[in-house]
Order: sequence, then C-alpha cells, then structure tokens
Amino acid sequence: MDARTSPFRARLTQLREVLAREGFDALLVPSADPHLSEYLPGRWQGREWLSGFTGSMGTLVVGQRAAALFADSRYWEQAERELAGSGIELVRIVTAAAPAHLDWLVEQVPRGGTVAVDGQVLGLAAAQALKARLEAAGIRLVTDRDPLDAIWPDRPALPTAPVYTHQAPHAPRSRADKLALVREAMVRHGATHHFVSTVDDIAWITNLRGNDVEYNPVFLAHLLLAPGGGRLFVGAGKVGEAERAALAADGIAVAPYGEAPAALAALGVGATLLLDPKRVTLAFRERVGAGCKVLEAINPSTLAKSRKTQAEAAHVREAMIQDGAAMCEFYAWMEEALAASRPHGPVTELTIDEKLSAARARRAGFVGLSFSTIAGFNANGALPHYRATPESFATIEVNEGEGGLLLIDSGGQYLGGTTDITRVWPVGTPSAAMKRDYTLVLKGTMALSRTRFPRGTLSPMLDAIARAPLWAEGLDFGHGTGHGVGYFLNVHEGPQSISRTIPEPNMAMEPGMITSIEPGLYRPGRWGVRIENLVLNVPAATAEGDTFGEFLEFETLTLCPIDTRCIERSLLRADEIAWLDAYHATVRERLAPRVGGAALAWLHARTAPL
Ligand code: ZN
Ligand code: ZN
Repeated sequence: MDARTSPFRARLTQLREVLAREGFDALLVPSADPHLSEYLPGRWQGREWLSGFTGSMGTLVVGQRAAALFADSRYWEQAERELAGSGIELVRIVTAAAPAHLDWLVEQVPRGGTVAVDGQVLGLAAAQALKARLEAAGIRLVTDRDPLDAIWPDRPALPTAPVYTHQAPHAPRSRADKLALVREAMVRHGATHHFVSTVDDIAWITNLRGNDVEYNPVFLAHLLLAPGGGRLFVGAGKVGEAERAALAADGIAVAPYGEAPAALAALGVGATLLLDPKRVTLAFRERVGAGCKVLEAINPSTLAKSRKTQAEAAHVREAMIQDGAAMCEFYAWMEEALAASRPHGPVTELTIDEKLSAARARRAGFVGLSFSTIAGFNANGALPHYRATPESFATIEVNEGEGGLLLIDSGGQYLGGTTDITRVWPVGTPSAAMKRDYTLVLKGTMALSRTRFPRGTLSPMLDAIARAPLWAEGLDFGHGTGHGVGYFLNVHEGPQSISRTIPEPNMAMEPGMITSIEPGLYRPGRWGVRIENLVLNVPAATAEGDTFGEFLEFETLTLCPIDTRCIERSLLRADEIAWLDAYHATVRERLAPRVGGAALAWLHARTAPL
C-alpha cells in the first residue's frame, strides 16, 4: 500500500495528536474486550482498525515516534503484508515468550513518562504485571481513558443478535442447579456477591446461548450474583419475554448492559465480592465500592463447566458420531475427487472447507463451525494456524510419482457438544521422510491417549508424554499438546491444558474434562503433521486399587479413521498397532450404522486392521 494513502498512517497521526494532548508517551492496544474473550466483536477490534492487521492475536504499541505490532510466527507473513505502508514495524516474537512489548515500552518511554491502556479491556492479573514492570522503570500507567474513542467515528455498535435457551435434553443440568452450585462455592469462599464477565461462564450458568462472536455460541453480558438473586447485564432487546420470565423464576433479573459498573460501585460495607483476576478486567475491579471486601479466586463456574456430567458426555458421544459420519461422507468425496479430477474439477484448500462444512451442516444437532477450517497442503500444512483465502490457496495435486501431505483441522458446534479434529492424508505417494514424521507424531498421540496417571499430575508431565517419541529423534513442536473443550461452548476452554506453561494446580486433569491431544511436527516450506483427538478424562481402575492413590485415564471421543497409508510400520510396536486396530474397530462399529454408499465403503477401507 502507498505510504501516503494508507488510512492507517492517517489514523496513527490522529492518535498521536490525542496522545500528545493528554500527555501520554505511548498507548498499548491489546487484542481484548471487556469479557477477555478469544474472539472479539467489531467494537473492540481497535488494534485492527488502527493497524490494518487482521490476525486474531497481536499487540499494538504506539509511541510518539515509533509504532510496533508484536505477533508470533503464525502471523509473520500476513502481518508483513497488512502492515505495509502503515508506518508500523512488525516485531517477530516467539510463541509464549516473555511479553516483548513491555521491553519495547520501557525502551521507548523515558523515566517519568506515561503509558496509557484502556483498563476496560485489560485483565486484572495482566494489569498488575504491567503496572509492576512499568513502575520499576519509573513509568506511570494510566488506565481510565480510551483514546480511540475520540478518533474512531464509525466504531461498530454492540452486537444485537438474540439470546436463546440451550434446551433439555441437550442441556441436562438446569440453571437452578448450576446457580445452586455456584452459590455453594460462594458460601465456601465467604462471599456474598460474585461478578462474572467471561461470556462462556455466563452461558454455562444461565443455559443461554447467543451469536455475538464468530464460532463461539455466546452473548455479551456480565452477571452479578447477590444474596437471593442476581442481575444479568445484557444489551437491550437481546433477551426475549420467555427467557426473561424463566430467568426471573430463577431469581435473575435482566438489566441494561452498561449498568454493570454502577452495580459494582453500589456494593458497600458488609458485601464480600468474589471475582476471578484472570477473568475480570481492571476497569471493573476499580469500580467496586470502597467499603466492599474483594476476594480473588478462579470462577467456580470455570471449574464446574470443565467437568462434564455423564449425561453431557453421553451427548458428546452422539455428537462425535454425527461429526464422524459427516467426515466419512466428505472424505469419501475427497478421495474420489482427487483420484479423478473430472467431473469434479481440481480440489483446492477452499473446496475442502466448503464441502466439509456442508457435510457437517447436514447432520442432526449441527449449529455452526467451532473455528475456521484449517486445510493446508504441504508447505501450508507447516503453518499451524493457516487459513486459505480466495486470494491465496493451494490446489491439492502432485506430479506423477511424487507425494504430499494434506492436513485438515476442523470442528463443529452441535447442541450436544463441540468437536475439534485434525487428520493428515496422503496425496500421491508420500516420501519416506513424510511417513517417518507422520508415524512419530502418531506415536505421540497414541502414547498420551493410553496414559494412566495419578490424579493431580501436573500438565507439563502429560505434555512430555506426547512429545517423547519426537524428542527421541531430536524433534519438537512449538504449540501446546492439548486444550480444554467446552460443551456446546468455546473450542478453547480452561482451566486445564496440556502444555509446557508453568502449571497452576487448577490446570490439572479432573474426571469429566474434555481435552484435545494434538502433537504435531512442522517442516517449514515442506509439510506439516498434526493428529488430534478429543479425549474424556475418566477414573482408571488399576489392579492396585487405590493403594497408590487415585488414577485417571482417557476415553478417546473423536471418531474418524487415522490414515494408515502414511504409516512407517517398522516404527510401530505391536502394542501400538493393537491400539490403532482397536480404535479403528470402534470407529467402524459406531459410524457404520450412520452412513451409506460411498461413505460406508470409505469407512471400511480406512478402518481395515494394519
Ligand atoms: Zn484442531
Ligand atoms: Zn484443538
């Protein structure tokens, strides 16, 4: 883009005038909203509006002389392109590294200077860390101003999509039960009040769903629970009469979205407010009335929501059948289309997204996709968060005698659960190097899927089990091994994870949690492998009883063949082959009654024993 005509350059100039007027040396613009969600409504995409960078993660820092965007390797190519002409420098950061933008701020802003950030989109815990770092460098932090407001005339309004009830039988726990459970936890903490901002927690507690952000069936709201009742702060017109009456019956009144800060300010002496510093913003914390005591702890709903009930798990097993059947139909089509490009025409990464989404949309209980499909062929598969666009996509084809790997990571939202699965398929004849990589990753997926471990085992210990077959060969991958998954909610859900992140006790596995197991291996510019299943955590019955404490294990939920043509058989042990054969027998048994024709033939071919 021409530097003289870039709208972003003009916006930065305007912003710098505002900063100068207010006496700020720099502005920090995180990718965040007042609910600290992963997907942001347009109103809070200020980082994108200012910089032109459309990636879902990235922090922008604007100083008087320089501006920089901090993004990890997933976004480097895209950021380079989108920032051209804006006058914003791209700073390439390594995933999970220490916050590099803080170093930048400390370097750019003189001692005695001032940094501004909108406290309405800054998590309380993150704010505390930011403040400590800046104060140590003699820099003042101002959090009660949003300088964007003055220069963003057409800032999008709040989303207005209606809220609906997640009905029984798919919502097996009643709202009254969930409220009782949260209130019990409040009593244990000694809290009279509890404030919740995270939209998936609110959706879970209220059994309501919405359509305010892409891929996650949530709605923007805050919830304040008080003795004997509560208030749901939500946009005007979003909650219909029936929902309003049902909420009232459970003691929850509907209030205007903008009134949450005033409700916190009204809390005074005698009130004890429970809030989660990782899930509530600084601005809300600062509004709490002076006499009110504040207790910081993880939201009780975040813990409860992660532990699916047996009834929920039963619905998830059915959703997995629907999802697996959709994939059989899609993959049967894809293999046929790849084998004979006529009459279908060439298969591209975009066709895959379109056809796979259509196959899911035909299944019972389907609501929408759980994230944007990643279909990456060869070099594109080496980009863990690749997304094909109409401007840039690959055609799935290889020259005679050559081979390639096609990685497809996709998922759906069903009324009875949320899915997320990655498979890798051969195109043509994959090379020995491709097969070796594929088999080593598969060994990691299988090793962790079969693991038994004592309850309370820290997350990095499980992470290492999936990496061990790769580590043995001097290989590794740059993302976590697994993330929690919601129940007809966010595909990324805490508190548990399987990763190298320095663990907290509430990140450990508990029975009922649904988590992904997705080790990978990426050869930049060549190919990528990732094999992902969702697993349910269940108690393990061991021969020792509970002599050595309580043990846990995983039930694999995802139902879809794992390609065996890419396997280098000499790298698998007999017990690994037996696990894979048994998995395929289960996949065949559960999916065969739900598919027919070419899909059934494909299922039989791809689940044949090794
Ligand atoms: Zn995935
Ligand atoms: Zn995943």
